[in-house]
Amino acid sequence: MSFTIRCMDCGHTTPYHPGDIDCPNCKSQWREALYPYEEIASSFPQDIAQRRFDLWRYRELLPVHNPLPILKLGEGGTPLIQAANVGLMLSCPNIFIKDERQSPTASFKDRQAAVTIAALKEAGITEMVAASTGNVAISYSAYAARAGIKLWAFVTSLVPALKMREIALYGGQVIKVTGTYDQVKQIATEFAEQRGLYLDRGARTITSIEAMKTIAYEIAEQLTEELGPPEEPGTLWRTPTWYIQSISGGMGPVGVSKGFREMARMGFTRQVPAIAAIQAEGCAPMVHAWREDREEAEAVTNPQTHIETLATGTPGRVYPILRKIFKEDRGVFESVTDEEAYQAMHTLAKMEGISAEPAAGVAFAGLFKLIHAGIITPSDVIVVNCTGHTMPAEPLVLGSGWARSIILPRKEEKSKPQEEGLLAALNRVAPDRFPRILIADDAADARCLVRRILQSQGEYIFFEAANGRETLDLVYKEHPDLLILDLMMPEMDGFAVLDNLKTDPKTAELPVIVSTAKELTRDEKNRLQGQIQALMQKGGFMSDALFEEVQALLVTGDKNGSS
Ligand SMILES: *Cc1c(COP(=O)(O)O)cnc(C)c1O
Ligand SMILES: [Zn+2]
Repeated sequence: MSFTIRCMDCGHTTPYHPGDIDCPNCKSQWREALYPYEEIASSFPQDIAQRRFDLWRYRELLPVHNPLPILKLGEGGTPLIQAANVGLMLSCPNIFIKDERQSPTASFKDRQAAVTIAALKEAGITEMVAASTGNVAISYSAYAARAGIKLWAFVTSLVPALKMREIALYGGQVIKVTGTYDQVKQIATEFAEQRGLYLDRGARTITSIEAMKTIAYEIAEQLTEELGPPEEPGTLWRTPTWYIQSISGGMGPVGVSKGFREMARMGFTRQVPAIAAIQAEGCAPMVHAWREDREEAEAVTNPQTHIETLATGTPGRVYPILRKIFKEDRGVFESVTDEEAYQAMHTLAKMEGISAEPAAGVAFAGLFKLIHAGIITPSDVIVVNCTGHTMPAEPLVLGSGWARSIILPRKEEKSKPQEEGLLAALNRVAPDRFPRILIADDAADARCLVRRILQSQGEYIFFEAANGRETLDLVYKEHPDLLILDLMMPEMDGFAVLDNLKTDPKTAELPVIVSTAKELTRDEKNRLQGQIQALMQKGGFMSDALFEEVQALLVTGDKNGSS
């Protein structure tokens, strides 16, 4: 059984070689893989029944002759999860999540990398170039590592550092370009052409489109398992009413659509789903063209979205290709704001226990929008592609104040039973009363630094004093739980402040951390002896050390009933 490559412009067919990028007849780079469908249809369901549930299950329909087992990382075969709570909330019981997070590097780009690298290996290609908004390069880097292929990964400088490091970790050479993703693609193309290297060409890459198509086959098989055999007699698998994905270049929907159309053509299914392709509002060239019913999308030259994964401003030919598909299969383009995407992520996490990256949040926000608009209806069966690394998103989704800290009392403090210490610690995390900390320092930036260090790790109420006199006033007025005290201050220095505090029984127990810039004499050290809980050298303490000291003192202070 074999496959051929057919030119989408002149119909010329050729055998496949991954290094060939255009039609020998008309030079078009837009070509697609064709398989002997009748032949495959006759034995396929029986053939695959015993195979493992990964994307190589559909190998007769992939452009690789003999995929090497040693290159595999467990690509494809991701779970289909029912979003029961979200479904309840939206009165749409049949919402399913295709959980591509559970791919080897946590995005559906692993399918593309697995199939492409297998094809390159088969063709003896040892070096490649890819432009990426992050995830593609991570996937390629991992698979290239296994195959011993050198990867040049061109990324925009907006890609989160965490993602860049992951590319580098697998051995890919990261090339950071300050510019838009479209400029990055241009530079990567020039680099590859200059050196005669294989280049990933997005939706024009046969292996990429074919790899994406396996998502469709898996969904059909999994939905059939979830909902039972299809009602239409003579068909094998169910298909959803909707497939929803956030898009950048649009490669996913092109491939997924090809998969569903092949299944229908082979008689495995009756329907093809409508596709909803969701873009980030700040970079939505396809949505704009769709709304105005234009045949070509106008480029967005200056994308305005924080969701860098989706920042393809020039969709090129993918738009007319998808437009034609959507007109035939009732698909839609829609856009959502970054804020809507973050909210959707938060909803998904809180209601379903699924943490997705912002790009996937865009898909869920799109789902919510289409349901509200009545375009998606309660009886529809919906599959949302959910992919992605969450870590870069956390600060934007949660804002500040998302965690409260508990530090348990140290073991050696046996004066009170353990439970009491724990209760005290738990009381500390109750939001009605945060620990009160007075920072006394004549330098405003020194006060600010301490405040910032502590603020980033816990919740406190701060008071600030610029001299000794103010410090004492605030101690009496605000009843802090802890004093962080500079020694060298005008009007009354830190030593004098301490003397005053210790002579008044009301303030004698207040825990004090002294932070000082000056080297203390032996005399001065003796003066502090027994008066303070900790001494920290300014500029010499790590933020963690200060935080731990503060936490330990606050817990102890509470046990002593100082509040
Ligand atoms: C690549 C990617 C997309 C966009 O996919 P295309 O089909 O190529 O437009 C969406 N979400 C995530 C997480 C991605 O990695
Ligand atoms: Zn041609």
